[in-house]
Amino acid sequence: MTLRLAVVGGGWAGMAAAQSAAGPGVDVTVFEAARELGGRARALLLLRPDGVPVHLDNGQHILIGAYVQTLACMEQAGVPLSESLLELPLGLPFPDGSGLQTPVWAIRWPASLALLATMLTARGWSWADRLGLMRVAWRWQLQGFVCAPSDTVATLCQGLSVRVMADLIEPLCVSALNLPTRRAGGQVFLRVMRDALLGQGFANWRASSLLLPRTNLGILFPEAASRWLTATLDHRFRLRMGERVTGLRPEPSGWRLMGDGFDDPFDQVIWATSAGPASQVMHQLAQTTADSGEHPWSSSLGAWAEACGSLGFTAITTVYAWSPGLRLSQPMLALRDSPAAPAQFVFDRGQLHPNDASMQGVLAFVVSASAGERSALERAVLQQAREQLELHDLQPIRTIVEKRATFACTPDLRRPGPHLAPGLQAAGDYLDGPYPATLEAAVRSGVAAGTQVRVQAGRNSPDDGITSGRV
Ligand SMILES: Cc1cc2nc3c(=O)[nH]c(=O)nc-3n(C[C@H](O)[C@H](O)[C@H](O)COP(=O)(O)OP(=O)(O)OC[C@H]3O[C@@H](n4cnc5c(N)ncnc54)[C@H](O)[C@@H]3O)c2cc1C
Repeated sequence: MTLRLAVVGGGWAGMAAAQSAAGPGVDVTVFEAARELGGRARALLLLRPDGVPVHLDNGQHILIGAYVQTLACMEQAGVPLSESLLELPLGLPFPDGSGLQTPVWAIRWPASLALLATMLTARGWSWADRLGLMRVAWRWQLQGFVCAPSDTVATLCQGLSVRVMADLIEPLCVSALNLPTRRAGGQVFLRVMRDALLGQGFANWRASSLLLPRTNLGILFPEAASRWLTATLDHRFRLRMGERVTGLRPEPSGWRLMGDGFDDPFDQVIWATSAGPASQVMHQLAQTTADSGEHPWSSSLGAWAEACGSLGFTAITTVYAWSPGLRLSQPMLALRDSPAAPAQFVFDRGQLHPNDASMQGVLAFVVSASAGERSALERAVLQQAREQLELHDLQPIRTIVEKRATFACTPDLRRPGPHLAPGLQAAGDYLDGPYPATLEAAVRSGVAAGTQVRVQAGRNSPDDGITSGRV
């Protein structure tokens, strides 16, 4: 008998869930409220100030070689990885040439030696800076990259110099956890460090390699996954774009999903929206089912909705700007940030898309953990570009403030788990797991939920040709 699966949400978690569940005996329907797939990591068509259309993203994203499940899903979906991602060795170079950069002669060295070479050659660092970092990194390793749940990243970094904090730890922490070190949870930071610096990367990539998208984020995974699902499942895959699920109701044999003009039955549901709508709908479901008294899981679902609803969020702002003929010294540069100069990174989209004329001269400035209002942020970033990059004729394309970009990955955080009720699971970057809110966290949770469905469908044979061996 065929199992009818509904996936609610066509972000990276939802598409990974659909892909992982796909196989003989499973019909997959994805409901996506928006007009495009990808959620917070989606493509966006914008206009340059001279009227030329340019394909950008909802926010500039970066992957690393340690994103093994994301890269495996992309590969399975048919995305040509080496063409679609520009690999850069770990580095945080500033426009003045200071900062960390793996020396060219060490790029092919074993990871730990390359890291050592990077530290020893960091420009502007004293021997005290380097020794301090080695001592602290050694301490982390001795502790097995584990710390007290209440530790912040700042606590873990006691003993590091101001220079090492400014050139390395602060930019790494804000880019990975979207919080400054004094607020960010130490345990998740250590896990990211361990996996990125000492872990196994996907295929031949170093775990610590920075992977910059060379296509827009829609093409990079969600649209490819949708094509793969159509090719694999044919009419057993349905994509219902622009359809928001507003409620669900348990039935003896599964679930009914309701929305504007539909009320459809499914055997299993993976709820893959962000935390806000997940908390709302599950809260409602817990209340209605508790009233009837028939469902023993209503109270645990209520607790889940509460945990989900109590997560805090931090913003990310992306300022896209353009100047004809502009080219930075590198595809990605770190910037010195302060409240008046809020961007931490700038990306040269022209270098990432060398064959796309519309992209030449387009920069993406990233303000992680951003605060304040859109136009003030835009002005401050353009001023920062004048001062730190000597770019005086940049014209803004669009400034996008994502207020709820990531959950606030603070110490002692209790994240909700994936189990909601029988036949109803959650997927999304906010669920309990080793990583902060990232593409990898989203995809991992989606793969886990999808695989569970396939196991339950009794079709989880390793040689059915659906699951990539690496996932
Ligand atoms: C500006 C920005 C920059 C970022 N940079 C990075 C980065 O460099 N590297 C990195 O790894 N991560 C980065 N992230 C984080 C990353 O984008 C997210 O962790 C990831 O996209 C979350 O995916 P998701 O599928 O869990 O959730 P979402 O992307 O939120 O997807 C949920 C989907 O559900 C849909 N939906 C919601 N409600 C309903 C409903 N009722 N019915 C049907 N559909 C519904 C939404 O429209 C959406 O498409 C960044 C995020 C932002 C915003």
